[in-house]
Amino acid sequence: MNSYINKVLEETKIKNQDEPEFIQAVSEVFNSISPVIDVHEEYERLAVLERMVEPERIVIFRVPWLNDKNEIVVNRGYRIQFSSLIGPYKGGLRFHPSVNLSIIKFLGFEQIFKNALTGLPIGGAKGGSDFDPKGKSDFEIMRFCQSFMNELYRHIGQDVDVPAGDIGVGAREIGYLFGQYKKLRNAYEGGALTGKDVTYGGSLARKEATGYGLLYYMREMLKADGKSLKDKTVAISGSGNVAIYACEKAMAMGAKVVAMSDSNGAVYHKNGIDLDLIKQIKEVKRGRIKEYINVYPDAMYIESTPNFSPIWEYSVDIALPCATQNELNLEDAKKLVEHGVMAVGEGANMPCTYDAIEYLQSKGVLFAPAKAANAGGVATSAIEMSQNSMRYYYTFEEVESKLERIMINIFKNCEKAAKDYGCEGNYVAGANIAAFKQLAEAMKMQGVV
Ligand code: NDP
Repeated sequence: MNSYINKVLEETKIKNQDEPEFIQAVSEVFNSISPVIDVHEEYERLAVLERMVEPERIVIFRVPWLNDKNEIVVNRGYRIQFSSLIGPYKGGLRFHPSVNLSIIKFLGFEQIFKNALTGLPIGGAKGGSDFDPKGKSDFEIMRFCQSFMNELYRHIGQDVDVPAGDIGVGAREIGYLFGQYKKLRNAYEGGALTGKDVTYGGSLARKEATGYGLLYYMREMLKADGKSLKDKTVAISGSGNVAIYACEKAMAMGAKVVAMSDSNGAVYHKNGIDLDLIKQIKEVKRGRIKEYINVYPDAMYIESTPNFSPIWEYSVDIALPCATQNELNLEDAKKLVEHGVMAVGEGANMPCTYDAIEYLQSKGVLFAPAKAANAGGVATSAIEMSQNSMRYYYTFEEVESKLERIMINIFKNCEKAAKDYGCEGNYVAGANIAAFKQLAEAMKMQGVV
């Protein structure tokens, strides 16, 4: 590793000791960019890396709300405005009990690079709360979202910072957040939040975009290696927004999805997962994936334990981790390789540990990194923002064809950057290099701010 990179990485580790996920995300990027730093000595003088790892602003706030028993509950809210180098801050909100500063910082840091890869003018941000939406009534969700927005509204806006969904934040939560934002601002600022329902300014195909985009990226990556998705077996972790629409597109491309999961366990169905049933259980009933075997007794269900993800136990051609960070570790990677996996694509953010990625790549498994492969969601959010600005709607087909073009371009840029910097076929390095180059040049041109 280049000595300047090493110095900044060590400083970052010391300064952010209690933030393992953030350090993991920074290390992953820094491990790839030596070939760029080597030919741009001015980056050290301009403190490019030091500035890149320090968020422009962090807001942490109290979120008090009343539950259905009229008791006061207090959660913690976060918004990290990491980088406005190439556009307004942009990135989702996560509501999950595991949320802390390290997780939001890692997600915000990743978002800067991902957003640059889309080729669209959006900066990087992330936010959320340790609030757990599971088991809460609709009114509790509404009261929490309203209280969260009572503080967040001061910091966002369609040209300032544009939040969207993430784990635990879907159309229902975005609706409550937007309603409260509109009331507080006394203005209809449609582009201040994305992931809105299509009835009030959302974009067609936004719901599907991250999962569909992942499959477009996988198709391109496989094609570059003379392969295709047709008749391949697939395991997808999670059964939320990303997982469900990844499954839908994988099936449309001729693959057979045989396994899906949630935080409690995984279902394996040899004949192919019935996606309509998964949608019914997870999107409509907000139930548990285990209920799948009540309808299909020939399917298999295995419970997860803290150190065991059953979803990676199965023999499949393609694995798509689409649930959460660090859900696929070295042991899982070894099992997948032993069972003959040929490609892994990250639908979730940082779902694979770094040693798992290195192992998979060393065994010749094609690897699609999250920053590039799941960028379709935020790209379509940017398309939602432009529709809101134009006060106009594109059709589903128009949005999907823009998404497809964006994903093809992202793949081509990753492929070219990897080739140009001597790591052909390594799309992790390609994605990091392509995004970093753009951001560093933008930083160089904007002065010390
Ligand atoms: P959802 O909340 O819709 O779904 C999350 C899914 O992952 C659920 O099935 C959930 O299970 C499961 N899950 C969550 N935590 C864990 C855990 N600790 N262990 C096992 N399973 C878990 O979220 P999304 O689909 O929106 O997001 C999934 C991932 O994709 C996240 O990493 C997110 O950052 C990333 N992403 C999302 C984008 C989007 O547009 N939504 C865009 C780009 C990335 P359960 O039902 O039991 O909670």
